[in-house]
Amino acid sequence: MITTPPLITLRGINRSYASDDTASVIQAAALTVEPGEFISIVGRSGSGKSTLLNVIALLDAEWEGTYEIDGIDVKSLKPSSIDTLRARTFGFVFQSSYANPYETVAKGVALGLAIKGLPLEEQSIRVSRALTSVGLEEKAGSLARSLSGGERQRLAIARAIATQPSVIVADEPTGNLDSQTGRQIMHVLAELNRLGTTVILVTHDLGIAGYATRVLEMADGELREQAALTPAITSITAEVERGDGDQRSPALGARPSSGIGFWAMRRAFERFVRSINNVTSRPLRSLALVSAFALAFSGLVGAAGIGSTASEQIAGRLTAAAGDEVRVNVPGALTRNDRAGWIDQLERLPQVESVGEIAALESATARPSRFQAAALTQGSPFTGSTVAVDQGLLKTLQVETFPTDAGRLFDPSAEDRVALVGQDVLDSFGLGRTGSGAELWVNGEPYSVVGIITASPRASNLLTSVVIPISRVGLVPSQLTVRSAPGFASAIAAAVPLALAPGAPGSVSTETAAELANLRVGVQTDLNGLLGSLAIALLVIAILSGASAMYISVQSRTQELALSRALGLSKAGVAIVFLWEGCLTGLAGGLSGVAGGLVVTVGISLAFNWSAVMPWTAVVAAPLAGAFCGAIAALLPALRAARIDPAEAIR
Ligand code: ADP
Ligand code: MG
Repeated sequence: MITTPPLITLRGINRSYASDDTASVIQAAALTVEPGEFISIVGRSGSGKSTLLNVIALLDAEWEGTYEIDGIDVKSLKPSSIDTLRARTFGFVFQSSYANPYETVAKGVALGLAIKGLPLEEQSIRVSRALTSVGLEEKAGSLARSLSGGERQRLAIARAIATQPSVIVADEPTGNLDSQTGRQIMHVLAELNRLGTTVILVTHDLGIAGYATRVLEMADGELREQAALTPAITSITAEVERGDGDQRSPALGARPSSGIGFWAMRRAFERFVRSINNVTSRPLRSLALVSAFALAFSGLVGAAGIGSTASEQIAGRLTAAAGDEVRVNVPGALTRNDRAGWIDQLERLPQVESVGEIAALESATARPSRFQAAALTQGSPFTGSTVAVDQGLLKTLQVETFPTDAGRLFDPSAEDRVALVGQDVLDSFGLGRTGSGAELWVNGEPYSVVGIITASPRASNLLTSVVIPISRVGLVPSQLTVRSAPGFASAIAAAVPLALAPGAPGSVSTETAAELANLRVGVQTDLNGLLGSLAIALLVIAILSGASAMYISVQSRTQELALSRALGLSKAGVAIVFLWEGCLTGLAGGLSGVAGGLVVTVGISLAFNWSAVMPWTAVVAAPLAGAFCGAIAALLPALRAARIDPAEAIR
């Protein structure tokens, strides 16, 4: 004859808490449970009932003795197998059963099924069956927070039976309910037992214990069989309709032949969905976390945008000159004839389009003013510069004047005292819009204003300058500005010294705007560096505040996490859910940061009248970096959450 082992066999179980070595809470407990029994464990508060139930339900591993489930020695199993065995064998109902208040009843009931990774259709069939057996089918779509105490316990029972466990363990399930609601809950449990589920109930209420077919008592650390109370309902265990074999191991029964990989993928997907669910079901907390990351990434993306925009702005001003302008420095000692010779030489170089001479005069000595007398008074309102140029320079720098041909009077041979005034400084001299006919005093000599400078794209400073013919000033250091065909600036700069001074090319120095172009890179680097380091500081703060907020939230989620652990979610599973939550939060922060950064860049560009430039790398990198930083922030909280003891769910 083949004898099947009992469902549960406990022998010589001892359990003491390390902090309390006076006496074991449980001493040498022994218990055998056959399938289909309804067992009550009674005893005074503090007598060790919950401690025993924790041992039985595999929520506690710190005991001594022998414990077999279906003949399998529990001590021989590794922790992850215990997680699986627990989830398969037991369903849990506690005094205050946890339900995520922001989730629907159906979702709460599906918790254990989802952790197993069952297909959604299967989940919904099992959920509605479980809800029907506890009489909660109409509440499937309601939020858990809207349930009464009794309904909440029925949700807990439905969640417990949805996974089709062999045993329901219930620790004071009616402890928070009025007696009538308590009896309803007991009727539900009795009915489940009648249909074949083993029930182990802990209670201090003898009236409630009376529903059981067998009553045990915890007292002074010992577990004793009691003379049977009169059962509150007719004894039915004799003709228990045992469920089919599938009910003993539903997880194995439901496993398709497609193999472990399929299930691992399903479960991995479930962890991801769970994390989405956790993030979206607590919108306020998630919003706070996301905005910390969003702020940091707005800063980072904004820094990238403003850096590029500013650099592009400088680039725009430089490109005009970069490829086609060369400046040749003219020593003050060079005679006017020699200067004319140099200009002549330069004009003859291939690819040179025009050459002009410019000398900046000391404002202090030039001192332009409207009246001669004013030259003596302090504090002239004119803050621009005074420069001396020839006709060639006006052409070279593409200066526009009014009247158009005013530059003619700057021919080297014309020695008239004439002046052009930049249109932005007309007011400094009290000149009208044309300025013509007026007289200005420069260097103590009167110059007649023959026109105004209306545009100077290559040297915007001329718009704020007074310009006189270079033939009027003595021998001063000046620059010859050479404009070449586009792209020939550096070639010409290299050729100029040899052309002008074949014997001593080192004596001639030149500059090209290409040297200025390096400035652009410098400016971009400086700006990016400054804004970037600010944003990285923000990012560190975001990671730290995200990490601490998540770390703190582990505390408030203890019950939820412990219950998930009790229902079979492994330690790694808990950690993975947390990491996903961090990733998703960071990703959302990164995406919002892209939006914020664009707004910042466009806003600042509008204010400065620049055209906004946003490097695409920043747009792509921010969300990725966000997800990464979110995961980093979630690391410690994830480890802490994984350490939560499933027995916490019972307290
Ligand atoms: P009951 O469920 O019968 O009210 P418990 O099993 O919860 O009793 O507790 C039994 C005894 O063990 C009590 O004295 C309690 O203070 C102690 N105890 C329970 N849990 C812990 C724990 N985690 N650490 C230390 N002592 C505990
Ligand atoms: Mg208790």
